[in-house]
Amino acid sequence: MKHSPATLPLPRRFGNALRDNRPAIAALQWTFVVLYLVLLITPALFPDDDANTGALHTLGRFAEVLFWGVWWPGVILSVMLIGQFWCGLLCPDGTLTEFASRHGKGGKIPGWLRRPALPLATFAFITVFEYALQAHDTPRGTLLAVGTMTAFALACGAFLGRGKRVWCRYACPIGGLFSLLSRCAVLHFRVDRAAWDAAPRPIPKPVDCPALLDIRRLRSNEKCNMCGRCSDHRNAVALAWRKPGAEFAALHDGDARAWEAAGIVFVLIGLLYGALHWQHSPWHHSLLALGVSAVPAAFAAVLLPAIVLGSGTALLLAVASGGQRLTAIRLAYALIPLGGFGLFLGALEHALDILHDAGFTVAPLLPWLRAAVLLPATIWSTRAGCTILGKGSAARTSFGAGTAVLALTWQFAPQPLSA
Ligand code: SF4
Repeated sequence: MKHSPATLPLPRRFGNALRDNRPAIAALQWTFVVLYLVLLITPALFPDDDANTGALHTLGRFAEVLFWGVWWPGVILSVMLIGQFWCGLLCPDGTLTEFASRHGKGGKIPGWLRRPALPLATFAFITVFEYALQAHDTPRGTLLAVGTMTAFALACGAFLGRGKRVWCRYACPIGGLFSLLSRCAVLHFRVDRAAWDAAPRPIPKPVDCPALLDIRRLRSNEKCNMCGRCSDHRNAVALAWRKPGAEFAALHDGDARAWEAAGIVFVLIGLLYGALHWQHSPWHHSLLALGVSAVPAAFAAVLLPAIVLGSGTALLLAVASGGQRLTAIRLAYALIPLGGFGLFLGALEHALDILHDAGFTVAPLLPWLRAAVLLPATIWSTRAGCTILGKGSAARTSFGAGTAVLALTWQFAPQPLSA
């Protein structure tokens, strides 16, 4: 049944507006490409050690705070709350790779690139290197790390796919992380299979999904770029609300993947805690000082806390699930809100550190900021875990207690602001 546009729910109307306003969206996307390049390149032109202390240097620092304090946390939060609209509508790498793919060689996607764990594994690899070598601490290091990814996105578009986002679907390391975070979102493109199959003839042309998804079988936010191109297709696809955590609770057994659970526990929680928070600890510096050679010690200093916190989290899941493997895997997904907000905090704290270095009094804010972010995240993860566990009150209690302890490790994480 066709509805008049005015009676459609707001998200569905928004989805249709995305579908119908491609030129305006393209203009916005290219504006973001320019903004991204300015924010990335300006700090590298006027770094801290530069003798230049004039207006351009201040502009460079301002751009750095904007990048770490507004842009990056904003992207993380939006992916967690409303899905990967960032990727489909604004991400400069997505715009560039699709543009390159439209004018590129249109090659076939090699089998090795289709491995589902590849983006998250690449993300972990880059994070270890970036933080062990402290690349993100300098604007030029940030330019090298982030700019290299943009170069790969362009190359991927130039050689693979015809007007598609092969990079976003199969290779983007940040996309590997966002595939986890977007499971939390309260918006999704819902497909009504019955309406799809009963669509009246003539059947409309298939949707040109840039992420190469089988839209008819879409039931997860995992790889959906939320671009809106499939909105209302066959009168069966609609942007719609869902409960927070609904995707974890409804996860089919075949969709609860062991490698993804390991990624949540050891990368999203363990590695990102090690990289973003533990590096400020005096223990971290002692470990670095102990190293016979600086480089292996730097890697150990990032990896060790990741392994310790990751193993502790895996133990919590094993206890709460009563040793049942599938339940433990499903419970790992419930920890995505807490791990995601830990990452969000890490980005905000990096921006606070830059402001602190610039002479602003931000230290008193830190404990309150942590509490304000961690409290809702803990409640969200605990509720999601309890829904998965069902009625077993002992299991619920041990999961809730374990989640609270995990939250305290972020609340009392080492102080990032240098003395
Ligand atoms: S399923 Fe494909 S076309 Fe539809 S919103 Fe997601 S990425 Fe876009």
